[in-house]
Amino acid sequence: MDDQHTEHAGPMDDDERAEFTAIVGERYALVDAVDIAPHLVERRGLYQGVTPLVLKPRTTAEVSRVLKLAHAKRRPVVPQGGNTGLVGGQIPFEQGNEIVLNLSRMDQVRAVDPVGNTMIAEAGVTLSRLQDEADRVERLFPLSLASEGTCQIGGNLATNAGGMQVLAYGNARHLCLGLEVVLADGRIWDGLRTLRKDNTGYDMRDLFIGSEGTIGVITAAALILAPRPAARATAFVGLNDLDQISRFFELVRSTSAGALTRFEILPRFGLELVLKHADDMRDPLEGPHPWYVIVEVSGAHDDGLAERQLMSVLERAAETAVVADATLAASQTQDDAFWAIRERLSEVQGLEGGSIKNDVAVPVADVPAFIRAATAKVAEVVPGSRPIPFGHFGDGNIHFNVSQPIDMDKDAFLARWDDVCGAVNEMVLGFGGTISAEHGIGRLKRHLLAEIKSPVEMEMMRAIKRTFDPLNILNPGKVV
Ligand SMILES: Cc1cc2nc3c(=O)[nH]c(=O)nc-3n(C[C@H](O)[C@H](O)[C@H](O)COP(=O)(O)OP(=O)(O)OC[C@H]3O[C@@H](n4cnc5c(N)ncnc54)[C@H](O)[C@@H]3O)c2cc1C
Repeated sequence: MDDQHTEHAGPMDDDERAEFTAIVGERYALVDAVDIAPHLVERRGLYQGVTPLVLKPRTTAEVSRVLKLAHAKRRPVVPQGGNTGLVGGQIPFEQGNEIVLNLSRMDQVRAVDPVGNTMIAEAGVTLSRLQDEADRVERLFPLSLASEGTCQIGGNLATNAGGMQVLAYGNARHLCLGLEVVLADGRIWDGLRTLRKDNTGYDMRDLFIGSEGTIGVITAAALILAPRPAARATAFVGLNDLDQISRFFELVRSTSAGALTRFEILPRFGLELVLKHADDMRDPLEGPHPWYVIVEVSGAHDDGLAERQLMSVLERAAETAVVADATLAASQTQDDAFWAIRERLSEVQGLEGGSIKNDVAVPVADVPAFIRAATAKVAEVVPGSRPIPFGHFGDGNIHFNVSQPIDMDKDAFLARWDDVCGAVNEMVLGFGGTISAEHGIGRLKRHLLAEIKSPVEMEMMRAIKRTFDPLNILNPGKVV
């Protein structure tokens, strides 16, 4: 869909603003520059949006009335959750005619069913609160992201978020049984089913998951709970070369009897940045190693099995020289400290100057070859740049981030964003991978979509967009 903004309502006058305001109440219709400012910038500072109005509805009925009115007026609407998205999908464009529809006030957990292992929650409930609600009934809601204190389940589903436990539990799509969605014209689809089996035609739920606010506004979701592991064992492991990571992964997976829950990698440079920029961090191992794995094995019972399993894998890996050094967390504090290194990794890159981000995936077996090829290619594009390929090895999902050369001007480096990403993407596609593994397309990668999808796939996507949003008022200019 080209020319996204031509048919839309222009500047908003006071009468129209009053009509929208009446739906949610004056207190929740933000117009003051100070109040709306946090809704117009995203984490990486790549986009600065403009809006005449931020609306914070409390109920599905209010969302429905807002969209009905927006549809009648051809007023474009940008759905927004916790505003942690990394591709700019939740930020309005600069021309200033789009409403921001923020779902934060829809924060009720409607039901928790420990027998069916399901939970129904509204779109604005934060991910960490959902985890707590599950924990209260001795269950696990296994979606886990470093942004979990702020991101919301509506945003998680709209982006089909991944994170660190996809390896064991799947991504947001796999954790959702049903949805409640408000369509572009204000109609409500109540698809909040908690059924495990339902073969009754096209799967509407799966269409909305990952649609990034472009074909409907998710107002509630029926979610899957998992049994809560009673024990977890974590090790911080040093390796001398990249190919050994594959061997170690294979070894852990084949000997942990399905109990492997996290397998994250980072290079030495990543650990060095954490040690340099984050407080209270220390290197868990004695000497430096080119690569590290943080690995977690979970157990259903608190009987020491998870720890024994992991210990025995580490011993075998050491005997065969697959790993160079390793330490098993001896306490919860140490466990937390290992994972804190991984969680601080994104933030410290920003403290080291310019950082160019890539969220990509290749087949798991190709991860080492991809990292090598992309590292060499990026060095050709910006000599002296410092790659930090890290992340979810077990899903083949690598955040191939690149920090600026030490002596280069930050803006000059960031001006090479497209060149660096282009080089990484070329390698990714060469390995049959994807240019967006878990962050989505949003605004940042929209221009690349037609390059990586076939004309048939692009036409199917555009047809879906036209069907659900014929006036193109839902997040125009994002994704398709
Ligand atoms: C420190 C950090 C770590 C992160 N780690 C990960 C990670 O490991 N894995 C991962 O996948 N992501 C990660 N992210 C990205 C981000 O947290 C996820 O994309 C998250 O799912 C976004 O949720 P949100 O509520 O913040 O959505 P927002 O940022 O508000 O919105 C994201 C997109 O969803 C749409 N949207 C939001 N709510 C709705 C709704 N109710 N209905 C329809 N559309 C909606 C928006 O229009 C936008 O296109 C990370 C981000 C940060 C800052």
